[in-house]
Amino acid sequence: MVMYIRHRPSCVQKTTVQARNETVADNVNARWNGQFSCYDLVAKTLARLRTIVQVGDIAIGGDEFVVMAGPCAVESERQVLDTAESVAKAGARILRGGAYKPRSSPYSFQGMGVEGLKILSKARDLTGLAIITEVMSEMDVDVVAEYADIMQVGARSMENFSLLERLGTCGRPVLLKRGMTATLEDLLRSAQLIAASGNPDVILCERGIRTFETATRNTFDVAAVPVLKTVCHLPVIVDPSHAAGVRSLVPVLARAGVVVGADGLLVEVHPQPDKAASDGEQSLTFAQFDSMMLDLEPYINLRPTADRLYAAAGGLD
Ligand code: PEP
Ligand code: MN
Repeated sequence: MVMYIRHRPSCVQKTTVQARNETVADNVNARWNGQFSCYDLVAKTLARLRTIVQVGDIAIGGDEFVVMAGPCAVESERQVLDTAESVAKAGARILRGGAYKPRSSPYSFQGMGVEGLKILSKARDLTGLAIITEVMSEMDVDVVAEYADIMQVGARSMENFSLLERLGTCGRPVLLKRGMTATLEDLLRSAQLIAASGNPDVILCERGIRTFETATRNTFDVAAVPVLKTVCHLPVIVDPSHAAGVRSLVPVLARAGVVVGADGLLVEVHPQPDKAASDGEQSLTFAQFDSMMLDLEPYINLRPTADRLYAAAGGLD
């Protein structure tokens, strides 16, 4: 009988491997050093201030503010192609769309699987947009990596450690969403695991956390962005759609994300949100996405100022 021994990368254990004063976290807040500096592959140090994740000609974590938009789920070729064309025209660089869907009910639409991946890939060919799509299981990593440019790990999978380890060798950047009840430390532990498993190209995503508040689907943790940008060198984006749960709040939360220094957005857009198979209430129409992009423009142009604000708070430079 063959025995398999699973190896966990040793650096995932919580030991402070950075000397004090070596991490930016320690220079800003001594307590953060203890909390975050042990994740040595992702912790921001003076020698490693930022990581730029390159996806074709798109640099995530650099000077460009990168918008990823599209439906919650891939439902049909027409739906995806129309959305891709519309969001590309409005300035999005990356098309989102779930082919494998984690649903709260086993009776809800579960996604189109490989057929959905093929539709996304056709949309990339037609529009030049890169593709981001969720991978839920280790078993699907190879097939998703064949079609996707970025592998999305959903909030419910943030602590699926065997999936994260497997993504270490998938050959694609990973967008890691914050779990619904995960602390920022938990999020960085998962990011460290992907990096320690061989993949340094990780993008973090704040998508709202579960609190006692019920007016919104989740509570958008706006402070997560400057904290993560201070203690970690990875790009950080925000997902205002899953944070809000209602489309009327999406543009203003997106604006907040830009102002606090996010590197990009992940937004749900649907040709007919009322007919969407999932997350229609929080999906923007094409026209609403267009006006959100126009509304964001002056805030995006102010981003260097946001960086300076950061520096004033001790976060950068
Ligand atoms: C999604 O992006 O459609 C999704 C399922 O998001 P989350 O994992 O953040 O709930
Ligand atoms: Mn969704």
